[in-house]
Amino acid sequence: MVASEVRALFAVASRPEVVSLAGGMPYVTALPLDMVGELVADLVSKRGAVALQYGGGQGDPDLREQICEVMRLEGIEARPDDVVVTVGSQQALDLITRIFIDPGDVVLAEGPSYVGALSTFSAYQANVVHVAMDDQGLVPESLAQTIYALRTAGNRIKFLYTIPTYQNPAGVTLNEVRRRQVLEICRRAGVLVVEDNPYGLLGFDGEPMRAMRADDADGVVYLGSFSKTLAPGFRVGWALAPHAIREKLVLAMESAVLSHSTFTQLAVGQYLATQPWREQIKTFRELYRERRDALLGSLEVLMPPGCSWTRPNGGFFVWMTLPEGLDSKAILPRAIAERVAFVPGTGFYADGGGARHMRLSYCYPQPDRIREGVRRLAGVIEQELRMRDTFGTGAATSHKGVDTPGPDLA
Ligand code: PMP
Repeated sequence: MVASEVRALFAVASRPEVVSLAGGMPYVTALPLDMVGELVADLVSKRGAVALQYGGGQGDPDLREQICEVMRLEGIEARPDDVVVTVGSQQALDLITRIFIDPGDVVLAEGPSYVGALSTFSAYQANVVHVAMDDQGLVPESLAQTIYALRTAGNRIKFLYTIPTYQNPAGVTLNEVRRRQVLEICRRAGVLVVEDNPYGLLGFDGEPMRAMRADDADGVVYLGSFSKTLAPGFRVGWALAPHAIREKLVLAMESAVLSHSTFTQLAVGQYLATQPWREQIKTFRELYRERRDALLGSLEVLMPPGCSWTRPNGGFFVWMTLPEGLDSKAILPRAIAERVAFVPGTGFYADGGGARHMRLSYCYPQPDRIREGVRRLAGVIEQELRMRDTFGTGAATSHKGVDTPGPDLA
């Protein structure tokens, strides 16, 4: 295990003078916090004997029913019995990996992919193989070819890990035609799909996308979370899995933590039962859309030629590609010195790729701060380009080893 690059950044990026386009922290201040406070106090005083007690390994039955109602917004018809409540969807990822992976087994994942998933896969010694992605998501032909090549070479593929909607880190969404193609390719090849979907309800236009799980109940394990639609501090996520896998998940869950916190499960359940949660999600969507617009608008105006980026329709992230010859990790120290932070692209690849890329998140800073952050970042990149044109390489790259920070960055 190694410290993730995102975590290493937090120490520096959380200083108030730094505009952080780095971490993916939801803007929880937009919640009616007084209301949530009352709800939690009520829960302890009125139902404390249950809320503060151990619970079952599968999770609170009422909450599992409510989770089915949430998933219905994405076209999923599921029974509460097929849901396992987990400590955020991160734990669901961990349990799935623990159940399926023996050292050396292959996990297919988009390139780039979510850093937290990659570190889980690497902790269980999976062999992560990236599949090409473009601005419409995973490329089906590339998926089919990769599966064929791996099988021919005698590899064991355990599952495809995908974030089809408002992907972390790329911000792109798998289109409807490709969703069907990807499901079909995996079905034929006998490869399980793990659909990680924490951002699905945070789209900026129209109705939520139909989840992949909605069209394949047997071949897809679906991971959901309240971290982005409510608050990550509750640490409530879930897995929806075919029956045989669901049984294993409960066993793995019990061996990991006995049971999830009854307290936070009931708090989330109470929130869903008594608060206008759909309206709250709308509030989040509007807030993030404004921030996305601030980021895209200022990138358009300020970034030097040669930079390109994705245009997300939801979620938290933009993926930027730097001009040739620039290395995002190498320029990070200069960016921090100029009081702006991002996450270098290499953290999102298991194979050392991503050097010319960076993830910019717009979920947390106010629009004005986002614009200021982009102004600072554009200045750094322009300076790098001048150095590249003078010396044939970016300044920070040429000083590698001198000003490249250590693993904890602080
Ligand atoms: N999957 C993806 C794609 C994520 O972006 C995150 C959080 N950044 C998670 C899973 C984990 O979220 P949580 O454990 O808070 O539900």
